[in-house]
Amino acid sequence: MKKLIAGNWKMNGSLAANEALLTAVAAGMPAQPVCAVAVCVPSPYLAQFQALALSVRGLSAIDLGAQDVSAKASGAYTGEVSAAMLKDFGCRYVIVGHSERRQYHAETDALVAEKAQQALAAGITPIVCVGETLAEREAGQTENIVKRQLAAVIHTNGHCISEIVVAYEPVWAIGTGKTATPEEAQAVHAVLRAQLKAATDHADRVKILYGGSMNAANAASLLGQPDIDGGLIGGASLKANDFLTIIAAAAV
Ligand code: PEP
Repeated sequence: MKKLIAGNWKMNGSLAANEALLTAVAAGMPAQPVCAVAVCVPSPYLAQFQALALSVRGLSAIDLGAQDVSAKASGAYTGEVSAAMLKDFGCRYVIVGHSERRQYHAETDALVAEKAQQALAAGITPIVCVGETLAEREAGQTENIVKRQLAAVIHTNGHCISEIVVAYEPVWAIGTGKTATPEEAQAVHAVLRAQLKAATDHADRVKILYGGSMNAANAASLLGQPDIDGGLIGGASLKANDFLTIIAAAAV
């Protein structure tokens, strides 16, 4: 399966900084596509990406993603952005259930499942994030937590589940510089793969990304694991050279 390297810019960027970053990444992209590449940008910059993709050479090889989507289709939901709106701006992906949304915006498993459903209905691939906190890992709860989080999305989305991307992101590894070892990550990915296999005959085509301080130095060993089909990259996606090194590591 072709791997996917997706950048999550989080709440970073400006018109000037985005143009510089995207121009540098596009210029360094491999001539032959070795893996799928996407960047998930803050919503106000979706239009900028679309415009730049027409003029910046190489940028059309990178797909556009958003970082969140409303669980509602339209209407009186001030501040929300619908899946149809993301589709209007050419989004191929949207992150749902990032731990920062679960933590700071009290997003529940059920809400995340509804967001995934909205994305799928609009023809956008949801990147569904799951992951345990440090306390949960230390309490031996890792498997239970990620299975519970994924089960909600499977329950709501039925046979469409083979259309999602899953991202395993241990909360203790996000933005901390602490990475799960390749073996720790692989063990959880295998659990998620087995859960998907029980839900669909097409589990082998569901990409399961690892996220959590993946960087230029550790990407190759993580991406070398049998059930790690790519990466969701936060901090390192803001540095063109680091992001390009991770993309190159996904080729092997
Ligand atoms: C993320 O936010 O999805 C992430 C993995 O962040 P970082 O790479 O900075 O740990």
